[in-house]
Amino acid sequence: MQQFQPTRIERSSKSLKIEWKDSDQNELSYHLLRQKCPCARCDAIRLGKDPFQILPSDDFFENLSLVDIQRVGRYAVRLVWSDGHRTGIYTFEFLRELSEAQP
Ligand SMILES: [Zn+2]
Repeated sequence: MQQFQPTRIERSSKSLKIEWKDSDQNELSYHLLRQKCPCARCDAIRLGKDPFQILPSDDFFENLSLVDIQRVGRYAVRLVWSDGHRTGIYTFEFLRELSEAQP
């Protein structure tokens, strides 16, 4: 899937800037990225299936930053967050979908 290949991923203080192979550019806020974290645990929290977890406050997102971006194979990146959360693996296709879903 050529069109889902980023040529450049750059961290800023509040968002991730992505340049795609088809030369489209997107900016995804950390707030949005973390809210949409695709890992099983975050999924359970969003669906209300984890009784021991509450949704994070706005404050939480305000102070959240990205510590690292690790390449996973040829199709995804793992995002490592400042609170230690690192189980979310974001495929390029998913990042592209998020970008296109933005207003
Ligand atoms: Zn997660």
